[in-house]
Amino acid sequence: MAGQAELTTSPDMTAPQLLAYIVAALLIQLGLGIAYALSRRRGETLVPAAAAESAAKTPPLAWQGWRPFRVARREFEDARQCQCSFHLEPVDGVPLSPFKPGQFLTFRLQVADGGAPGSERTIVRCYSLSDRPDPRAYRITVKRIPASADRPELPPGAASSHFHDCVREGAAIDVKAPSGHFFIDTDPNVPAVLIGGGIGITPMMSMLRWCLAEQPERTLHLYYGLRCGEEHAFKPVLEDLAAAHPGFHLNVVYSRPGASDVLGRDYHHKGFVDVDLLRRTLPHGRHQFYVCGPPPMMQSLVPAIAAWGVPEPDIHFEAFGPATVRLGRAEPVDADAALAGAVEVRFGRSGRTLVWDGQDENLLDFAERHALTVESGCRSGGCGSCQTRLVSGSVRYAHAPDHDVAPGHCLLCVGKPASALVLEA
Ligand SMILES: Cc1cc2nc3c(=O)[nH]c(=O)nc-3n(C[C@H](O)[C@H](O)[C@H](O)COP(=O)(O)OP(=O)(O)OC[C@H]3O[C@@H](n4cnc5c(N)ncnc54)[C@H](O)[C@@H]3O)c2cc1C
Repeated sequence: MAGQAELTTSPDMTAPQLLAYIVAALLIQLGLGIAYALSRRRGETLVPAAAAESAAKTPPLAWQGWRPFRVARREFEDARQCQCSFHLEPVDGVPLSPFKPGQFLTFRLQVADGGAPGSERTIVRCYSLSDRPDPRAYRITVKRIPASADRPELPPGAASSHFHDCVREGAAIDVKAPSGHFFIDTDPNVPAVLIGGGIGITPMMSMLRWCLAEQPERTLHLYYGLRCGEEHAFKPVLEDLAAAHPGFHLNVVYSRPGASDVLGRDYHHKGFVDVDLLRRTLPHGRHQFYVCGPPPMMQSLVPAIAAWGVPEPDIHFEAFGPATVRLGRAEPVDADAALAGAVEVRFGRSGRTLVWDGQDENLLDFAERHALTVESGCRSGGCGSCQTRLVSGSVRYAHAPDHDVAPGHCLLCVGKPASALVLEA
């Protein structure tokens, strides 16, 4: 049976031998328990045992590589029309197998290249599934990323603009199977606290819709933090679900309500989703916490929930981009501190050897700063585009990556060297 060690005994075993077997069995069980706890959250360094256990808990990929889908329908979810849902049906017509609510899809997109007119480039991005499993279609919801007001010289988000401006009903799109380790626990007896900040509401919608359909008796608390009513996605559906399910407690939190937003009608609390609010509104008892939101929310709220006394295995989180979340009791060993000094990193394809001096967040930033072209996609350990063979040396991760890294390989976008490296890339 997966996850359980098998021990054999012989009839002529002596008492000390039997004792040794019992101790060995207990130690193996303890080890498996620790590995399970580690794999349930992402706030620490990847270790092989956690990776193996995590892989065992994650369903196998529904298909390998890219599968063509067609956009059956698209609809805006907010008044400002910045968050658009896309309903995707498989071109081959084969029913979709269920995914774990909270998982994401990976997309390959041909987008206009800002440089030469008419030219295109391929980019890879991840988007969470925003509805419960349905054998006919998937739904994702994409927030448009406009050009920054502070830095108008930078372009708007490439993939999100492409989705909003170019991916019409009927369009074909290449999709990788649902994946990721951020998904809801299936124990209906433990109440779940879902916390979504901004577009971080998408995996919460999937978890919520699945729970209400499959575990209608389960107590659920949703905290949805956003700026104002104009950005309020899924408003009617959330209000209808809360009215229909007494066990579902909806808490909408606006930080900057607009002139027409009414407390008590459009939102329940003013401010931010923080531990003070959770303390005031959650009943006593054990809960499983699921958090997804922008980097400032992740960096403050996740450690604060741990500091409040929630056991770390009960805190699950996902960031939609590079965000370093550190839990106090499980602070990862900083990769730079683990290095005695600068180390050499050799990139095989270009034949260049560079010196890692600890300036960069990860090996991908390091390569790009030195004008090396390497494959990349989500930049957060999810899509596997930057996976490369590790010819020699070892790489550390601050968080276990979502992508299941192939043996002998590493991810550049979330990895730092733990020794001198030779990479195939
Ligand atoms: C697991 C996972 C799930 C996700 N789920 C969702 C989801 O459900 N919904 C959703 O909307 N998003 C989701 N995301 C985020 C999504 O994958 C994309 O990161 C997001 O849409 C932005 O991508 P983009 O191509 O539009 O922006 P990019 O082109 O990647 O740009 C991002 C930002 O960088 C700026 N920029 C561009 N060029 C430069 C430059 N040269 N220097 C500095 N800055 C620059 C842009 O102005 C923009 O602000 C998820 C991410 C992950 C990892």
